Amino acid sequence: MTMTGDAPMTQPRCGYCEDWNRQHPNEAPRTSCGACDSCGAPGHFGAHPRRPASICLCEEHWAELTAPGYRFELYHLVYLFVLLTFAAIAYSFAAKWF
Ligand SMILES: [Zn+2]
Ligand SMILES: [Zn+2]
Repeated sequence: MTMTGDAPMTQPRCGYCEDWNRQHPNEAPRTSCGACDSCGAPGHFGAHPRRPASICLCEEHWAELTAPGYRFELYHLVYLFVLLTFAAIAYSFAAKWF
């Protein structure tokens, strides 16, 4: 007799939850590691892509955090703003001296 133990497709794969379920076979299977750090929805622990830390986020915020384009644009805006501020300061200094 073979049993195919396929998990439902809606369930995200999470090593922490899988370990917990393996260690607590008599309890109801865990579907979440805890509340999302950003919005409080059921989330899962994982390594932060840019920091040496583990955080708990829901699927939506994991997608947002790991999306490559979104943050990149924000950084560009910050750099642009800093550059413009420096340019304005440099210009006002130059205007005084010449
Ligand atoms: Zn969230
Ligand atoms: Zn989990």
